Amino acid sequence: MTAAAPIASPNDLEAFWMPFTANRSFKRNPRMVARAEGMFYYTPDNKPVMDGTAGLWCCNAGHAREPIIQAIQAQARDLDYAPSFQYGHPKVFAAAARIAALAPGDLDHVFFAGSGSEAADSALKIALAYWNVTGKAAKTRLIGRERGYHGVGFGGISVGGMSNNRKFFGSLLSGVDHLAHTYDREKQAFSKGEPDYGAHFADDLERIVALHDASTIAAVIVEPMAGSTGALPPPKGYLQRLREICDKHGILLIFDEVITGFGRLGFAFAAERYGVIPDMITFAKGVTSGTVPMGGVIVRKHIYEAFMGGPDNVIELFHGYTYSGHPLAAAASLAALDIYREEGLFERARAMEGAFADAVMSLKGEPNVVDIRTLGLVGAIDLAPRAEGPGKRGYEVIERAFHEEGLMIRTAADTIAFSPPLIITESQVDELIGKLRRTIRAVAN
Ligand code: PMP
Repeated sequence: MTAAAPIASPNDLEAFWMPFTANRSFKRNPRMVARAEGMFYYTPDNKPVMDGTAGLWCCNAGHAREPIIQAIQAQARDLDYAPSFQYGHPKVFAAAARIAALAPGDLDHVFFAGSGSEAADSALKIALAYWNVTGKAAKTRLIGRERGYHGVGFGGISVGGMSNNRKFFGSLLSGVDHLAHTYDREKQAFSKGEPDYGAHFADDLERIVALHDASTIAAVIVEPMAGSTGALPPPKGYLQRLREICDKHGILLIFDEVITGFGRLGFAFAAERYGVIPDMITFAKGVTSGTVPMGGVIVRKHIYEAFMGGPDNVIELFHGYTYSGHPLAAAASLAALDIYREEGLFERARAMEGAFADAVMSLKGEPNVVDIRTLGLVGAIDLAPRAEGPGKRGYEVIERAFHEEGLMIRTAADTIAFSPPLIITESQVDELIGKLRRTIRAVAN
């Protein structure tokens, strides 16, 4: 007889291979949260930690919101799971209708996935299939952007522009090009909101069209505000110009709004803020206020209709996930959208943007601060790297903020990014900035 395997100790951190984490140093000095409510997480020994990041840019309504809890609990009791391949359940249709109603223009059909990565890959596949069903199957090239992030699926990392997310994973998708990113520190430093300089970066698309010909290009995918590479607001006029060039050449435009969707920039979607209607919007995160995994793609009428033109009674799109439109996610989404509407959280974020930007900019002049960017309820601060190399100071920021200031923060190399829940009050903004100021000073030496 073999001996029974020992039961793992609940304090043993070894088995979990943490994503996007330096596992060994984390496990020597773990940062744990065990509970959350409103604007705060709490450590296992009950120390409050301000949520400076809305989790991972997702808990827009704040934590432990009773209507969402109740909706999830009731849904688990009533209908825990149902497929959405060839069967339906009421909440998923209701969620799609509510999400579509929030999107501008004729973005009126919603395809569900389980995450932002799945949403990005779904949008890319829909773009390719769209050209296929409309008789232009040669349009297969996909265009992303340097410093773009579209999740970690093979499609997403191929069009994405973060070298660490790409370089370990082989040859990726072929037929992919990247636009230049839109950040120029010399000309844009310390600009609040959209920088005045840089609309011309959109013209880089003309270069790619000239190289390959529009007849081979399916779609362009960009985040309206690049988030994960340090929050890069779009230069004034840039997104509009990108739309014009796509229209001129018959190229689909996809906005990845996984971060910018659901109020982060003061509107349901950034597309509304900028008055630009892309052909597809990807979303995730805030759609359920981070409570249950859900992502998806909102498509314009002409895209959906193109797939409906064939014979009846056949599957139009060979794509989908077991958890597309999961009942718990659909229920959580309806409850989150109710909160956003009832509490006017998108409008609230819009109204706070100016004061938030001023507060964040007050960190100019603190040690090592080389640039600050703000947009909506997003702030990013670039710190000069330590002499030993990039990323070291960023890591210290996380450690110090969490342990000494009780603040959850994000860093990308030596950029600090923060994006608090949209329920943050003005005095909590001051508290957040105070914590940041002390942390930045503490890592100065
Ligand atoms: N797209 C964007 C713009 C994102 O910011 C993210 C996640 N930060 C994703 C896609 C991927 O989402 P997920 O982690 O849910 O797969």
